[in-house]
Amino acid sequence: MIYFDNASTTSVRPEVARVYKKLIDECFANADSMHAPGRKTNRQLEQARQHIAHSLKVLKEEIIFTSCASESNSLAVIGYALANQHRGKHILTSNVEHSSIKHAMNFLESIGFDVERLPINEQGIVTEEMVRSHMRKDTMLVSLMHVNNEIGSINPIEKIAKVVHAHPTCVFHSDCVQSFGKIDIPFEQLDMMTMSAHKIHGIKGSSMLLKKKNIVLQPLIFGGQQEQGLRGGTENAPANIVLAKTIRLALEEQEETYAHVKMLRDHLVDRISAIDGGHVLSPQNALPYILNVSFDQITSEVLLNALDEKGICVSAKSTCDSRSSQASEVILALNHSQKDASHAIRLSFSKDNTIEEADQFVEAVKEIVKNYGLSL
Ligand code: PLP
Repeated sequence: MIYFDNASTTSVRPEVARVYKKLIDECFANADSMHAPGRKTNRQLEQARQHIAHSLKVLKEEIIFTSCASESNSLAVIGYALANQHRGKHILTSNVEHSSIKHAMNFLESIGFDVERLPINEQGIVTEEMVRSHMRKDTMLVSLMHVNNEIGSINPIEKIAKVVHAHPTCVFHSDCVQSFGKIDIPFEQLDMMTMSAHKIHGIKGSSMLLKKKNIVLQPLIFGGQQEQGLRGGTENAPANIVLAKTIRLALEEQEETYAHVKMLRDHLVDRISAIDGGHVLSPQNALPYILNVSFDQITSEVLLNALDEKGICVSAKSTCDSRSSQASEVILALNHSQKDASHAIRLSFSKDNTIEEADQFVEAVKEIVKNYGLSL
């Protein structure tokens, strides 16, 4: 199998899986139980939180464990908007956010918030100038992703944070799911930040919302005292404890993996551009982990299925929208043609991919285009 769908999810690192299996046995007790096994689970959970805080240079109290990035995103934007309505009703976001933000924003709009979706430019980003020119006195929240999950474009979030913070009553949230462990994130500049373990070779069911201490949120999951009362429910202690190791390994290998993935991406860009009808849709300075391409002769669906038959896994659009038959909204927002949008496929890489796999992919595409493609 060739797995080029790492933006969707990644394989679990063997070292993480080993520790996780051990923790399932050793830390099964409820972290809020007062007995000895409960106290042990709680101790390990809090140690993990401390290690993560140390790695990211944030405060331990700023880490909220959640079940997935969709939950973190929902808690960040809906939780913030509901708890801070006195600051205003205006929210800025973009027209290419992940569906968890997109749907959360639609909900906020349906209950009376004024949500403005900024367009991306030809590089696939929202610039700080664009944000500056749309900020209003009543703008209470700006939520923009760091790296786009379909095309890999990188928003200048450090510069955007400065623009947002020039307005003392507004805060900045960034969905950093596709950048965490891949490029540096300016944690100290972000009021709230979302990441997800399963995108960096960790365990599913484990995610984090970082939020600055002064930020007040309305909980969306009611229950007990867990996670400062911000999300009720028994802690998923084994997954949250092993997240510390997952993060440490990702950060330790960040530079080396980046260089490896960039080499693969550059190789594929050269080979795909040389195919008749082959186009690179990702902007030039996108994150190399995500490469969006299209072939004039073949639609996304046909190509994806034909590659699947050959044991090659890729995506068309975001995995969360994969069952919808609509062309990619992100590719259209980038001003590519309707044809490109319905022919686009997303390749996404990890440390485990090789140059041989890249070459096999190119040969497979050529053969599929020859057998099933329409003539140009
Ligand atoms: N945000 C972005 C940018 C993503 O790419 C994804 C997943 O694809 C998510 C959020 C949601 O992540 P999760 O599956 O952990 O809910």
